[in-house]
Amino acid sequence: MFSYRHAFHAGNHADVLKHMVLVQLLRHMALKEAACMTIDTHAGAGLYALDGNQASKSGEFKEGIARLWQRQDLPAIVADYVGLIKKMNPDGKLRHYPGSPYCAYQLSREQDRLRLFELHPSDIKLLNENFQHLAQQVPPKSRAGRGKRVMVQRDDGFASLRALLPPPSRRGLILIDPPYEDKNDYRHVVTAVADALTRFPTGTYAIWYPLLPRPELRQMLSRLKRLPGAEWLHVSLRVGKPSPDGLGLRGSGMYIINPPWTLATQLKESMPWLTQALAQDEGAEFTLETGTTPASRDERD
Ligand code: SAM
Repeated sequence: MFSYRHAFHAGNHADVLKHMVLVQLLRHMALKEAACMTIDTHAGAGLYALDGNQASKSGEFKEGIARLWQRQDLPAIVADYVGLIKKMNPDGKLRHYPGSPYCAYQLSREQDRLRLFELHPSDIKLLNENFQHLAQQVPPKSRAGRGKRVMVQRDDGFASLRALLPPPSRRGLILIDPPYEDKNDYRHVVTAVADALTRFPTGTYAIWYPLLPRPELRQMLSRLKRLPGAEWLHVSLRVGKPSPDGLGLRGSGMYIINPPWTLATQLKESMPWLTQALAQDEGAEFTLETGTTPASRDERD
């Protein structure tokens, strides 16, 4: 059950797409003064060392963030995301890479709340240690509220979501980023989001998925599109043709419910550039679509 370790994949092309979009969702949440609760149902370790054993063994980040590191012509939202990582690497060498919890922490304000769930025994330990370390960097005066601000829990993110919704402030961003090694994850995503929307219909939900030729993926996307009464945006990035042996992830996507209205334009402007920058062969392409789900409930397959 616990074979997946995100450290092998940190900073790869899929993380680039996911974290670039996440940064814009967090920026949008910070436009209004009212508090926002960010819930990361599958948090991972929070922070990664790209020169550590796992990331350097797989080398996946070399085809992801490393391809953007020295570029001077980044479109605005790519520059925003890369800028966050540059701040973590002040000497200019790409060594540290943020997980989604760190992106959320960096872009959250005093009034915001961060709720992180992780099940892997080693990654929950690292996540706790990473956040304890971050807390040490906060001036003692502001530390008192940290316990309330950030909560890290070793729990099932799908099951834990319902108890948190709606957030007291009625403003929330929910990132759902399971490994999908267990094919039931596709089904769990739809069930969790369907339930969450009944409790908190105005929340923003960001669902990441690997672009794999699986019937479960097609079914998940078509069921998400039929959840009632929500605007959605769907972006995917394929970095190349499927490999002949079927190994290696060649693409990923983000399905966002109740996206900021500016996001589609931002992605229209940046995705052609990003696709070229991360292309591994002539099969690289992106898709971008938006829509509104029907007002009545229809989740049948
Ligand atoms: N969101 C992270 C990021 O962007 O940096 C990466 C998360 S990784 C794709 C998925 C994580 O979910 C793994 O660390 C895995 O151990 C964890 N996980 C798997 N099933 C889970 C569950 N039901 N609840 C919470 N965490 C789970």
